[in-house]
Amino acid sequence: MVGVQQSVINLKMYINGEWINADNRETRAIKNPANGEIIAIAPEGTTRDAHEAVDAARKAFESGVWSGLSAQERATYLFQVADKIDENAKALTRLETLDNGKPLREASYDIADAAACFRYYAGLITKPDGFTYHVADPMQAMVVREPVGVCGLIVPWNYPLLMSVWKIAPALAAGNTIVFKPSEVTPVTAMKLFEIFEEIGLPKGVANMVMGAGPIVGEEIVTHPEVDMISFTGGTKTGKHLMRQAADTLKKVSLELGGKSPNIIFADADFETAVDYALYGIFSGAGQVCSAGSRILVEESLYERFVSHFVERAAKIKVGPGDDPETEMGPLVSEEHMKKVLSYIEIGKQEGATLALGGHRLLENGLDKGYFVEPTVFVDVEQNMRIVQEEIFGPVVVIQKFKDEAEAVKLANDTVYGLAGAVFSNDGAKALRVIKKIRSGITWINSYHPTYNEAPWGGYKQSGIGRSLGTFGLEEFQEIKQININLQVEPTGWFSHEK
Ligand code: NDP
Repeated sequence: MVGVQQSVINLKMYINGEWINADNRETRAIKNPANGEIIAIAPEGTTRDAHEAVDAARKAFESGVWSGLSAQERATYLFQVADKIDENAKALTRLETLDNGKPLREASYDIADAAACFRYYAGLITKPDGFTYHVADPMQAMVVREPVGVCGLIVPWNYPLLMSVWKIAPALAAGNTIVFKPSEVTPVTAMKLFEIFEEIGLPKGVANMVMGAGPIVGEEIVTHPEVDMISFTGGTKTGKHLMRQAADTLKKVSLELGGKSPNIIFADADFETAVDYALYGIFSGAGQVCSAGSRILVEESLYERFVSHFVERAAKIKVGPGDDPETEMGPLVSEEHMKKVLSYIEIGKQEGATLALGGHRLLENGLDKGYFVEPTVFVDVEQNMRIVQEEIFGPVVVIQKFKDEAEAVKLANDTVYGLAGAVFSNDGAKALRVIKKIRSGITWINSYHPTYNEAPWGGYKQSGIGRSLGTFGLEEFQEIKQININLQVEPTGWFSHEK
């Protein structure tokens, strides 16, 4: 029988400023992935709930209660949200760890980043953002940015609060109203964020949250004619489906999808730095990170030394419950996801790859009730293997060999994805030369993973369309309008014979 935590949180959806249960009163149990205990009960939203949320967002948008405010006024609200996130950081961190499983250290970074993201967009929206053009007299042309309208925001479970904020902060800053859907697996901190919206007095209907299954509630948002735009983060397969669904109403679509990112290590790299970042690149977040460096490519002459040191260090990673301060890597988010990751490990073995480390679920030391998988390293892989080509989204890495720069680039680019990538080398020119040839949207030299609110985030190829964060992330939520003003108000005379 599944254990139940002493104080189970009762989650509710937030529609038009009201906290509500699902239309059909159905619920879903939210579990702690470290021990399978129920931590919260979430409403299992219906298409009707999604419809109500869209309706509320549409009415709020048309009323101008939000888009009609000055940028300065909207910014004031967003700064308050940031302050409240900081004030509640400890509680939010604990909840994120409880819900997603990530170690407290990782969760606390996410929460601090979420506050910083609200501040960034609160500041950005008050900065100049238009253009004027010198066109032929007597005209004056200018370009202004306007909100898109009602935005449907759909996020996954790996950074429950942070992924939500990457969308909600710029969408609101730009003057849109929103219908937001967290992952059905991790809705807890999102509800806390909406409590903050209520507390600071965000006008009713501006921010709405529905919960429930993607194919039901998510799909209703995606297909609803009153939704102007969809911003989605999730798997590539879902992204493709969603784009097809959005086509009928020709919505603007922004997609942050999966990856299988290469981490290229040349023999002249600083060895300890390269090994250290390679570990961080794949095992932080237990590998459930879209930009994870899940393919390590090592120059031939360094290969044996690298593999042996990497495996030695990976074997020492302390796996355990996220709320144990000693834990360095937490569980996978759900039993279902753990099964998917374990099945990929089996696929790798069947394909003929060699397991250099790990490959199993961890059951000892009280971990048997949670969804823990040990750090896993495959070597002797071929480029066409599924474990090299497909996103596993777990603590599983493949280490490959390359002869020279050209082969490194060829292997690095040889998947359908193009999200992230890194190069480690002490030859600055070579590192930059190679990184410029990598077909990915997010790259690092002699580093892996740092992400900045100021810099655009998103992928090439099948890793997505559009960008989050930075000025680009705001533009995703804006329409661009040209306004042409006639400074000489008189008839054009084009059809003069009609005079
Ligand atoms: P999914 O694609 O399964 O789900 C993402 C979200 O979409 C969830 O809220 C889900 O709802 C919803 N959804 C599912 N089906 C539909 C549908 N038919 N219509 C509308 N919405 C739907 O991804 P995961 O949650 O499994 O997240 C992992 C994936 O996210 C990985 O592939 C990862 O690479 C990617 N990701 C990408 C990032 C990036 O920046 N590029 C960042 C983080 C993750 P439900 O909860 O019910 O499943």
